[in-house]
Amino acid sequence: MNTITKSFLALSLVLSPCCVQRAHAQQIAADAIYAGGPIITMNDAAPRAEAVAVKDGRIIAVGTKAEVEKYKAAGTKFIDLRGKTLLPGFIDGHGHVSLTGIQAASANLLPAPDGGGNSISRIQEILREYAKTDASKEFDLILGFGYDDAQIAERRHPTRQDLDEVSKDIPILLIHQSCHLGAMNTKALELAGLTAESKDPQGGVIRREADGKTPNGVLEETAFMLNAMAIFPKLNAKQFAQLAVMGQDLYIKCGFTTAQEGRAAGPTHSSFAALADAELMKIDVVSYMDMVFSNDPPEMKSPWYSRTYRNGYRIGGVKLNLDGSIQGKTGYLTKPYKAPPPGAATNYRGYETLPDQVVAAKVDKAYSNGWQVLAHCNGDAAIDQYISAVRDAVAKHGPADRRTVVIHAQTARLDQLDSMKELGIMPSFFGMHCFYWGDWHRDETLGAVRAEMISPAQSALRRGMIFTQHHDSPVAQPSAIRILSSVVTRRTRSGDILGADERISVDDALKSLTIWGAYQHFEEKEKGSLETGKVADFVVLSADPFAVDIEKLSELTVLETIKGGKSIFKADAQPAKVRAGALPELPPMPLAARADAPPARGVFAYASTTSLMPGSCGCAGCALGHLVTMGRREVASTAR
Ligand SMILES: [Zn+2]
Ligand SMILES: [Zn+2]
Repeated sequence: MNTITKSFLALSLVLSPCCVQRAHAQQIAADAIYAGGPIITMNDAAPRAEAVAVKDGRIIAVGTKAEVEKYKAAGTKFIDLRGKTLLPGFIDGHGHVSLTGIQAASANLLPAPDGGGNSISRIQEILREYAKTDASKEFDLILGFGYDDAQIAERRHPTRQDLDEVSKDIPILLIHQSCHLGAMNTKALELAGLTAESKDPQGGVIRREADGKTPNGVLEETAFMLNAMAIFPKLNAKQFAQLAVMGQDLYIKCGFTTAQEGRAAGPTHSSFAALADAELMKIDVVSYMDMVFSNDPPEMKSPWYSRTYRNGYRIGGVKLNLDGSIQGKTGYLTKPYKAPPPGAATNYRGYETLPDQVVAAKVDKAYSNGWQVLAHCNGDAAIDQYISAVRDAVAKHGPADRRTVVIHAQTARLDQLDSMKELGIMPSFFGMHCFYWGDWHRDETLGAVRAEMISPAQSALRRGMIFTQHHDSPVAQPSAIRILSSVVTRRTRSGDILGADERISVDDALKSLTIWGAYQHFEEKEKGSLETGKVADFVVLSADPFAVDIEKLSELTVLETIKGGKSIFKADAQPAKVRAGALPELPPMPLAARADAPPARGVFAYASTTSLMPGSCGCAGCALGHLVTMGRREVASTAR
């Protein structure tokens, strides 16, 4: 009997009327029983349990110890939680798994507490160390990820001269934490062909030195993306797959058992499909195919587009991107930024990625096909565009259970929450911004009044809405704990509370990371809470989040991650730290046929669409995704 049939049989017995259940309980032997610590179910009908029994990767009983021990037999493993806390595995509201692999393969320039990039000199030291690694040699590049000018002591981006002090011979590419900007040394500028004569591309800025001409190394938006692509190594299919594995590894360490590939292109999809075919997926990954560059992603016709995972992978729908980032001052607002970026007019309010009619046509196309749509919208003007497009599409196609999602919704106004509720749009908030960029938003981008209202989660709850909370990894590390702490306290880096009225409870925060995440992905019958019949995806935390002081939530740690009843991460059993950027070994896989072929939507498509677009792309998935799926040389000819 295969595993699926066995599980089904066991489940059908458990789910039968109670007299039958009692009669068969003796005959069903659990593989494992977890007990001995707080068990938080995220099931409102029974929020706490004493024990959970698992068989064939599914939960077969949750309840009191006495109830669950009925499933104990000779072969049943008893797992003592030793006072630690068991919860459903975390479900990613929005992130980019394979790009998280890039983060893992680069020099970590994140500021504290996630890294050491807090001054120009410290960044130089980190880059010098990274230059000695295999990864740097493999990429033929010094690649740094995650610096943030708002957190650098000098309060500026590193310039080409700063980077030339690290190396004049090896190209250096730094990616800003927002993924919307970056910096290069002189060697990289040369390779990209950037000179005093280079003009700013549409939707981007090449920052200049005092003469107003010579590039100073700092590049914004399309100027960053196109030129970064021009010097980025062309990754082969195996390297893509390796990054997809490295990304999963980081998610697993953070307690995630379901992750989102929040803007997939052809090669990203192919590497996940290949890993799934080879049974090498470690957690469930659901992809959303990019619909900015393709109006009709061919992958939506593949069997991977399904509500059911095959070996841990599926395509869930499509992803749109309607603006940039607030912290990078490229998000599309209805009112001007507090302090416009250098050279911009005082009424500067960012810009849209796509014109209204194009957004409307793409949403209509998705609704016509029944595709779930996720759209990145940070600024309220971008959210207006989306709401208007969804309103038209709902009027045309009628109401249905579509679970349309607005990703980030950072500056959502209260009237926009009302519209979202009316139209069935679910927000996925980037609430951890309160910690990472809260001070910056208050002082630089939005001003106090608008900053206090970012990610208005409590206002959504007051309207009876549910939502997810996300990390947008690699924009931030994929830490559910950091999300939990940020959205419950809304503490900024400096310790301020940003918008006390929008704080949410520990219970609601955990729901946004579990059961509501399952709902967003149409998986609430399978995941998100500890209930009989659901998948045995768990995380074990160092303490009960309901029992610790909320100011100490950030100190919780993930001790173990369990996927389908199997332990896939233990904090105390990790191998010695992997060298920066060392790519994992993979067994032979049928990759060559898939993706040594050029990307499905390559440089030509990119070049032709950017020339039509007034703005650039939005989040990490956009900038980095196109960077790594294209690579150098192919782009060099079309970048300018
Ligand atoms: Zn985004
Ligand atoms: Zn994103």
